[in-house]
Amino acid sequence: MDRAARSAKTGKASAVQAEGRCACGAVRLEIDVPAVWAWHDHSAASRHAQGGAYATYVGSWRSRFRILEGADSLTRFEDPDAGTARSFCARCGTPMLYERARSPKMVNIPRAVFASRTGREPRYHMHLHEKADWTYEGEALSPLKGYPGVMRARPRRKKPLAPDGMF
Ligand SMILES: [Zn+2]
Repeated sequence: MDRAARSAKTGKASAVQAEGRCACGAVRLEIDVPAVWAWHDHSAASRHAQGGAYATYVGSWRSRFRILEGADSLTRFEDPDAGTARSFCARCGTPMLYERARSPKMVNIPRAVFASRTGREPRYHMHLHEKADWTYEGEALSPLKGYPGVMRARPRRKKPLAPDGMF
């Protein structure tokens, strides 16, 4: 049994932390492990802000989260209509925090900024109804001839043509 599992079982405070950092290293943060949960966010807003098909976050209680270095390097974008705030490194642009007014005691951190495990697998999907239709979903791939390392999905199967009595 690992330390995180043991502390969860005994209810003792975690002595294990997971550290995250931005691409340039100016901002470093940590959370106590295990995190509360981890989730894939398919919302259009997160997709746009993060620049990916979807964003994967680790949710932590604010009380179990600390900025270790570079708090003054964080730039914050607040969206009052959505009730959200996104913070990213002003130097390298890495998204670091996603806060939602509806969950004021929680802070969400992109899973990708952690090199180590966070104690939670991302098993939850939110806002699937906003999912991009170009999200890679594990379709079969084959190598692209002449381009080593490039894999290609087969074109999506077109719907069979509807029978047309006129022609
Ligand atoms: Zn940075």
